Amino acid sequence: MTLKDKATASLYITIFGCVAAAGAPGLGAKLFGAGIGLAGLGLRRAWRRCPRCGAFLSSDAQENCEKCGARIPWNEDPGRRLK
Ligand SMILES: [Zn+2]
Repeated sequence: MTLKDKATASLYITIFGCVAAAGAPGLGAKLFGAGIGLAGLGLRRAWRRCPRCGAFLSSDAQENCEKCGARIPWNEDPGRRLK
């Protein structure tokens, strides 16, 4: 997965969790949805980081790290990078 895929996936997980929490009939199901939403937020924080200095990226669209200025490889897949 590229960074962009991860950012998008975690956003969908967060939205799904919020929708599930809002639309779920019982308290248990609401808490389950809220848990998924929080997991999505956690994934966003864990994944959207600068590959050089580890700073959190505030936007999915920013080209460079705000802290160290490194280019963010949004569309590079680290698992499939050619040598
Ligand atoms: Zn950085």
